[in-house]
Formats: sequence, structure tokens, C-alpha cells
Amino acid sequence: MRALARGHGGWPVNDLLVDVRDLSVRYTLSRSFADLLRRKPGRELAAVDGAHLAIRKGEAVGLVGESGSGKSSLGRALLRLTPATGEVRFDGTDVLRQDRRSLLAYRKRAQMVFQDPLASLNPRFKVGEALAEVLRVHRLTRREEIPGRVAALLDTVGLDTEFADRRPRGLSGGQCQRVGIARALAVEPEFIIADEPVSALDLSIQAQILNLFLRLQREMQLTMLFISHDLGVVHHLCQRVAVMYLGRIVEEGPADEIFYHPKHPYTQSLVEAMPRVEFPKGRRELPRLEGEPPSPADKPPGCAFHPRCPHVMDACRQDPPPSIRRVGAAATACHLYPETEKA
Ligand code: SF4
Repeated sequence: MRALARGHGGWPVNDLLVDVRDLSVRYTLSRSFADLLRRKPGRELAAVDGAHLAIRKGEAVGLVGESGSGKSSLGRALLRLTPATGEVRFDGTDVLRQDRRSLLAYRKRAQMVFQDPLASLNPRFKVGEALAEVLRVHRLTRREEIPGRVAALLDTVGLDTEFADRRPRGLSGGQCQRVGIARALAVEPEFIIADEPVSALDLSIQAQILNLFLRLQREMQLTMLFISHDLGVVHHLCQRVAVMYLGRIVEEGPADEIFYHPKHPYTQSLVEAMPRVEFPKGRRELPRLEGEPPSPADKPPGCAFHPRCPHVMDACRQDPPPSIRRVGAAATACHLYPETEKA
């Protein structure tokens, strides 16, 4: 019998919608005037550095980390909104190597919801016109059916039909984000990347938008990558969580495992920093996160987390940790877990 082909994470490739392998995103920093005079080449910054991530069909995966960890660059690379190397397999096809026509077809199946909903909407278009434009460009609906489809999209995201005649400037942040979600849903995508979609909203509105994502993901069986700096938000919404630090995924696993039994010292300190969590009685105290992350342009040698890690050992200062390895139900990349099975 032939062995099943497996993607990253060990799942059969047929179960995977997104299979990211060794993904890197590099930016060249602008040069100072002195460097220009000396004809020094611009320095490179690895925003994403050899990331692996697998997302199964119908699954919501959370990607968490502090600002500057590379999570937004990773999300944008999945939609080819920023240049990247490595592989991004979507339903078996590497989207980083697709031609223009295939890329357009891919973008019908994969959509992004952005952090700043107002900036992502054209102020000249009324809400109804913006949604109709998407339907027209992708030739998804017959002309006479467009008004009905626009009304249905607004209803799906909890907005009354009268919002079709409003302009983005006249909407609240939460209403704008609902329109952003409706626009993403207009192409009936299978995969949605939501990049910090609630971080610009008031706390009470955040809960409403999170519940909307939760409902949509369940009702439409959407596959989702939910990017956030807030582990609590991700735990509320996602079945699995990946944790990023300075361009690398340092831990991934089932959301409850990451939340209640974090293995990597960075994940432990993220969990400890959460303000509103009831943990089981008897849980040992986790270390708190000290200091700021270093610049991605000046990563420390060895393990990039070592200057902030309460468990740092000599090896951590010199050698990068082994690639991500299975530890119980999760997987982590850390010298504390050297002998476990490769994930
Ligand atoms: S490899 Fe070392 S420094 Fe890095 S997280 Fe693990 S114990 Fe801490």
C-alpha cells in the first residue's frame, strides 16, 4: 500500500487547504545618506524567516505574536501581496509560482480582511457600489441580480439594506469592518486571512465582530487564518494557534493546549501577560515577558528570544534551536525540548 503524502504538521495533504513550507519574506532597508555616498548595499531584514504552517480545510488557525514578529508579512505573502520565497501550496498548487491568470483565480478563492477597514474602502464609492464592483469585476452575478446580492451580503454581516447608500466616511469603525468582511465574502472565498481585524475597534465592538467571524466560520465552513497580537482573541475564535517571534514560528498546536499548557518560554510569557484569564487551580506560575523584542534587522545570534528568556542556557546564545518538534499535542522550537520527534 502506498504511504499517504503528508504536509507540514503530518496531516494527509488531501486534508490541507494551505501548506506553507520554508516561507521567507525579506525587505531591503533604505540606506542612510552616508551609506549612499560609500556605495554600501542596503541591509536586509528577514520579516519572515523559513516559516512552516499547515491549515486544514474548514479550520480556523490563529497566528499570534508581538508587533514586528512578521505575522502580517506572512499573511500578505500567502496572498502574494508581498514578494516571498519558499512554497505556499493552496489546494495542492504553489501560488508563489502561478501566472497572472491563475493568480486572479486564486484570489477569488482566498481573500483578506484588513486591520484598518476605512483605509481599505474607496471613499468615493457608496457601500453598495463597492460591493457591486467586486461582483462585476469577478463576473459572479448577472447584472439584474446585483442589488439583491448586495442586500444579501449586507444582511450576512448584520447591516441593514439602507447601508448600501452610505459612504465609508459616514460609518463607525465596526460598521466599516462589517463592510470589509462583506466585500471579502462577495467572491464566496474558501479561505480568509483576517489581519488584526478588531485591533482598531472599541472593546465592545471587538466582541461583536469576533462573534460575527465565529458565526461565519461555522456557518460557511470557511478556512481562516486569524492574525492577532492578542492570544485571548485567537483562543476565542480558533481551533489551532501558531506563535511567531521575530519571523519564526516557535510553537503551534491545538488552541487549548497552547493556552493552558504552553511549552515555549515565549508562549508562556504571552499567556502570563493576558489580563482576563481564569486558569485551572494549581497551575504553576509562568514567567512574565521582560523588555522589548529586538529589531528584526538586528536579530540576536542563536535563539532570537534568548536575551528575554528566563530559561536561557549557553547553547541558546550560540545555536539556533532545532526545527519545530512535537512535544505532547503541540510542537515547539526550543533547546529545552531537544530529543522529540520532528513535526
Ligand atoms: S531555545 Fe533557549 S533561549 Fe530560546 S526559548 Fe528555548 S530555552 Fe529560551
